[in-house]
Amino acid sequence: MATEGDVDGKTSNRFERKKPADLTLEHWITSWEKQQIQFHLDEVHEMLKKHLNVMLNGRKQIRIFFPLCGKALDMKWLADQGHTIVGVEISEIAIKQFFTEQNLSYSQEPVPGMPGADLFKSSDGRISLFKSNIFDFSSLIAGQFDGIWDRGSLQPLNSSDRQHYSKLMITLMAKGCRYLLDTLVCTKDDFTGLPPKIPESEIRDLFGHTCNIQLLESSHTLSGKQKYWGLESFIEEVHLITLKTDSS
Ligand code: SAH
Repeated sequence: MATEGDVDGKTSNRFERKKPADLTLEHWITSWEKQQIQFHLDEVHEMLKKHLNVMLNGRKQIRIFFPLCGKALDMKWLADQGHTIVGVEISEIAIKQFFTEQNLSYSQEPVPGMPGADLFKSSDGRISLFKSNIFDFSSLIAGQFDGIWDRGSLQPLNSSDRQHYSKLMITLMAKGCRYLLDTLVCTKDDFTGLPPKIPESEIRDLFGHTCNIQLLESSHTLSGKQKYWGLESFIEEVHLITLKTDSS
């Protein structure tokens, strides 16, 4: 995603361009080291609050997966409601900041069968975050999930990795899983701070063969943060993805 540059104009040069090819794991690890994490929100995500009932579908205490989780506050918010959270994040700094900032004590241990990966677990056992490349993760490691909150995961991935990613996500969906996919659609063509937008057709290509896809919301609201970025228009979309086999 974006990194902050020197700012003198209102809309120009606030961000360096990061082409998809630049968005390597090293890029992300360095961004966390430098705390260039403009994507992080200091509050629970509005769209999650709004559509949580759609994910829960009347269920209580479900297992919720957070791919590419960063240090999203949403994880603590859902754990406090009795749900069990599993996240995957490549940056150890992000994971440690999450537990420290949320005042949660935690343990850290290696993961059998995942070289280089560590599992960070809150003392109450409600939140488990794997420090790992998402592509090294599978249902063999932590089972399948009843719900998924996926914000800002597709965009950072190279197009060639997105098929791999959607296949992986589908294997992580338990029967009855309700997957909320939140994507940003930047409509200002010359804006260079965000990776390419995700068109609806791509979401259908990625998930449509196995899943039903429903657009829950397409919001054109500019937040203060996006105005700061110099954006004039910004669309955030939430899709509900469910397994076709659930409806047959
Ligand atoms: N979902 C989070 C963060 C989105 S930004 C939020 O809502 O705040 C993407 C995050 O994914 C970053 O924290 C980055 O460090 C992490 N990341 C990028 N590529 C990854 C990969 N291949 N495996 C695991 N984590 C990755």
